[in-house]
Amino acid sequence: MNRRPEQPLVDERADVVVCGASFAGLAVARQLAGTAADVLVLDRDEIGAHPTSACAAPMPWLEALGLESSVKQELPFMRFTTPHDSFRMRLPWSWGAFDYAELCRLLWNQSGARFERALVRGRVDGGVRTDRGIVRARLVVDALGWRRVLGSQPFAGTGGPLSRGLEVHPSGGGDALDVVIDRSLLRRGYCWRVPAGDEVRVGAGSYDPCVAVKQPTAEVARRFGLATVRHQGNLIPHRLRPAAENGCFFVGDSAGHCFALSAEGIRGAFYFGIACGRELRRVLAGEATVEEALAAYGAFSASHRSGFGITYALQRVLPALPPRALTLVIRALSGQRLGDAIFNWYLGLLPLTLAEEPMPESARGQLALG
Ligand SMILES: Cc1cc2nc3c(=O)[nH]c(=O)nc-3n(C[C@H](O)[C@H](O)[C@H](O)COP(=O)(O)OP(=O)(O)OC[C@H]3O[C@@H](n4cnc5c(N)ncnc54)[C@H](O)[C@@H]3O)c2cc1C
Repeated sequence: MNRRPEQPLVDERADVVVCGASFAGLAVARQLAGTAADVLVLDRDEIGAHPTSACAAPMPWLEALGLESSVKQELPFMRFTTPHDSFRMRLPWSWGAFDYAELCRLLWNQSGARFERALVRGRVDGGVRTDRGIVRARLVVDALGWRRVLGSQPFAGTGGPLSRGLEVHPSGGGDALDVVIDRSLLRRGYCWRVPAGDEVRVGAGSYDPCVAVKQPTAEVARRFGLATVRHQGNLIPHRLRPAAENGCFFVGDSAGHCFALSAEGIRGAFYFGIACGRELRRVLAGEATVEEALAAYGAFSASHRSGFGITYALQRVLPALPPRALTLVIRALSGQRLGDAIFNWYLGLLPLTLAEEPMPESARGQLALG
């Protein structure tokens, strides 16, 4: 039974404390279902209360995780627009634009965890410090987003490898995920339009976190003839960070599991959430020490460096191209065969096989934690 948020968490202990109840934290908690472990998830907000994303993820991922009923619209097309031309292509797989609250609810229902609302302030020996007191756990996960609150050097603001995104959610429709690359809107970045059933998520992302994105967001909405209502935004990491540090597992944005060029981070949060959960299970089953699990998970995350590095290099190179040259590049790449190959390569950067593995047998009775 949860205590009221104003009540202190006195002598609170768990086997695993997962800090953050969004894509990454819920993916970790889901992966621990069926163990006998006491898994406590903490978040400053109620689960699913505050989306910060356009909530578009590849359909194969949503299906593999049993989340397809949260999808408001499948988007089999993308359209790339520059000041000089526009290219529409059919993808080899579809994006799914989903309802955030519903997706969180589905993920939560797949976990056997318990939840407390608390603001996590930092790491202490053997646990975490929150606004409601200390929570002790041998296994600690930071899924708190770009600030990396439990790291030895949390991020405080715009200093760092971060992008900035903002969007509005007016009523509207469409069948394609639009990407607009126009230096008159943003010198380094892009704008998007994601139809999601009866609403459209239209926004702007700058690869420079110091650049304000409110005006580009308003301008791109105006170009699409859409109202600027229901704003939401956040900073987005665009470099991989160490996934194990300070005796803690980092997953999702806290570990920079977000592709720099596209600012797509939901898939990374799922993928590394599953990988982290696998390592936690090994500790819970007595097959690995915490230190061994941290080392294995850190190495697993780092082994994806080249894929994340390529999208970072493209993020640097593409905005530097003259707009006409960029248009020619997009034209060449958006041919159906080459486009299919590129999008399949992009999907394969985080192999779906991880999500398709059957959930491990219950580790009940195998707990090695005291
Ligand atoms: C405008 C915008 C649009 C985007 N669109 C897409 C998209 O369409 N597709 C895509 O793949 N990616 C998109 N992204 C990126 C994506 O949103 C992130 O990569 C993703 O949310 C990362 O998930 P996460 O669980 O790691 O972190 P988050 O989603 O940031 O979740 C962090 C959680 O931790 C909680 N929290 C934070 N600090 C504390 C604290 N101190 N104490 C307690 N709780 C705390 C928060 O309440 C939240 O629940 C977008 C980003 C932005 C800004």
